[in-house]
Amino acid sequence: MRPDVPVYCFHPQVLAEDVAHFAQAFPGKTAYAVKTNGEPFVLKAIADAGVKTFDVASPAEFAAAREASPNAELLYMHPVKAQSDIRLALESYGIRTLSLDHEDEVAKILRIVRALDFDPADLTLFVRLQTKGSATYELSKKFGATPAHAVELLQRIAGIGFKPALCFHVGSQIEDPEIYERALGSADWVRARSGVELTALDVGGGFPAPYGYDPRRKKRIMPDRDEIMARLRKDLTEWGFADLPLIAEPGRVIVARSISLIVRVLLKKGKRIYINDGIWASLSDSWTGKITLPARFIPDPARKRRSGNPHEIVPFKVCGATCDSVDILSRPFWLPETVDTGDWIEIGHIGAYSLSLRSRFNGFYPDTVVEVKTPFDEGDKPEGFAAIETMAD
Ligand SMILES: *Cc1c(COP(=O)(O)O)cnc(C)c1O
Repeated sequence: MRPDVPVYCFHPQVLAEDVAHFAQAFPGKTAYAVKTNGEPFVLKAIADAGVKTFDVASPAEFAAAREASPNAELLYMHPVKAQSDIRLALESYGIRTLSLDHEDEVAKILRIVRALDFDPADLTLFVRLQTKGSATYELSKKFGATPAHAVELLQRIAGIGFKPALCFHVGSQIEDPEIYERALGSADWVRARSGVELTALDVGGGFPAPYGYDPRRKKRIMPDRDEIMARLRKDLTEWGFADLPLIAEPGRVIVARSISLIVRVLLKKGKRIYINDGIWASLSDSWTGKITLPARFIPDPARKRRSGNPHEIVPFKVCGATCDSVDILSRPFWLPETVDTGDWIEIGHIGAYSLSLRSRFNGFYPDTVVEVKTPFDEGDKPEGFAAIETMAD
């Protein structure tokens, strides 16, 4: 195709494998977090791979999940909701599971339940518990009740007659393997203190996807995905949650590997390359999350002369397509010195928080998708150090 626009390469069999891998390792329901990648073709593939539950946060996500999977169970796990959206969820989408971290949210839900003449016992309300620990995106500063507050909320919910449950979300791309254990310890404390019989536990998302690493930085030692899941199963048993109905809300770990992105080098200027994508398009997550992406060099065969050593893999600062001065990636691409104007780069593991975060800023909006059989990880090895950090297999 020799594309001048960014091209998303969708690898459906990789997605099916990663869904199956997670579902097999987690001893409960797998509820895919739609915000990670809500493209219809992705949701459809996830539903086809056997996922029957979706974590949704807005009317557009209700509709997208329903469209992809008409009988899917939708969990409305945004702790802060518009009154009209709660009504839409209950009345039009048959949603019966919601989360919250404040008593005013209980009041909002109760108002709609009364207006619709529903029985509170038909609704499961998850109290979102604050967690602590290290992740690329730490969310407990924004959401979650303190343990003491969660105790009160559980008691209030149970008192009204809703089904009480507990959830947490440790953040995205965890960097600390103990993080689930600490959250479970806290959940156990809340359960004991409240004296409320929980009807379910939702351990959220955060499971790390494999990315590249920067050789100039100390390599982070993270257990592989099988070990993380084995620890989680063990911790669930040790904290006495294994007999409860369990839910997880994976996003990144399911979709990251399923899409790669081919971008073109519009200009090389010294150790900088300008590409036709950027932070306002597919690369926003790698920018804010300071993620090193695996990058594979695809030379333009039309270029006859090159300078530099093809075996020397060096960091290139990556400038995005827009006229915005902040549109420069926070981590370099590691590529052969010979990379030049007109070449292509295949960026791997870009399925999470890429298409869902792209904007039309400055008129650049990547929207070309092709289906590809060969997984990114099976092609020629990505150049040099931009290899994969946390994969077991
Ligand atoms: C974003 C989000 C997820 C998915 O997070 P990942 O890190 O992509 O697994 C799950 N649950 C909630 C509540 C979220 O906000």
